[in-house]
Amino acid sequence: MWAGGITLPHSEVLRIMGVRKRYGQVQAVDGIDLTIDPGGIFGLLGPNGAGKTTTLEMIEGLRKPDAGQIRYGEWDLLHHQKVARERFGVQLQTSAFFELLRVDETIDLFASFYARTLPRDQLIDRFGLQEKRSAYVQNLSGGQRQRLAVAVALVNDPEVVFLDEPTAGLDPQARRNVWDSVRQLRGEGRTVVLTTHYMDEAEALCDRLAVMDHGHILDEGSPQELIQRHRPGAMIELDPSVPIADDLQLPSLQRVQRDALATALMTERLDETLAGLVMWAREHDVPLTGLRTRSATLEDVFLHLTGRSLRD
Ligand code: ATP
Repeated sequence: MWAGGITLPHSEVLRIMGVRKRYGQVQAVDGIDLTIDPGGIFGLLGPNGAGKTTTLEMIEGLRKPDAGQIRYGEWDLLHHQKVARERFGVQLQTSAFFELLRVDETIDLFASFYARTLPRDQLIDRFGLQEKRSAYVQNLSGGQRQRLAVAVALVNDPEVVFLDEPTAGLDPQARRNVWDSVRQLRGEGRTVVLTTHYMDEAEALCDRLAVMDHGHILDEGSPQELIQRHRPGAMIELDPSVPIADDLQLPSLQRVQRDALATALMTERLDETLAGLVMWAREHDVPLTGLRTRSATLEDVFLHLTGRSLRD
């Protein structure tokens, strides 16, 4: 629980209905509907330019939609901007910080915008910045900057916290530290809405996900639901040099998929297809070079839904 023992007001349901935003010729967000339940971690997953940041900024009240409604509980946020300002916390890009302010001064600066704030020292302790309290922002590591950014997003004790790519560019250990902080926010009853490019992050952190591309929501659900819906079953992978024909007949084999790194046999029943493959290889004297099996992941779902990998 939150060390200060502060009881949080309950967060409310966020509803995004028919929201659109165009910049000149670019339809950045093209009529999206989302319902974000309180108290969980909701992820917007999509490649560069999908419209994730624009969507977050409209919910946060930083950009005005061209059309549609955004409601937080009973409030229409387009007409009650004060509600978003008081109850939402927004993680700024770390480039928005003043390099020549100290960590404690940075938190004080952002706290000065709000009537109700969490104590600065609690935020510093909680995000492991004690030793950097008096350091200039310009001397922080990438991970420390990100933790400061999440600390600043919490300064007004928000019900909903928005994090735009909270672990971009961090090393694996620093990413895990940020994940722990994000889980802690959920543990306190806050709602977290985040964007990410990273599949493992979405799978590890998010209770629900919306997959976004070209301004549309392609599908929504828990990571497991999305995997079940779009990529049930498993995969047998082989080196691309193994001569597998597209119309190879094996028990329970759904289809053959290729890329530069592997030939993948998608199957509903791994045991049956694998047994059939081994028999076929013996009969035809084909070595099964690089044979490995794996379950479907969000990456496969994403490829299926968008036709491209997240990092294209
Ligand atoms: P990224 O992961 O790269 O941050 P994103 O999914 O957050 O991408 P947005 O930043 O919302 O996507 O951008 C959606 C589209 O709108 C892109 O084509 C982008 O170039 C365009 N865009 C975003 N902001 C502006 C702006 N201020 N003016 C003009 N076009 C913009």
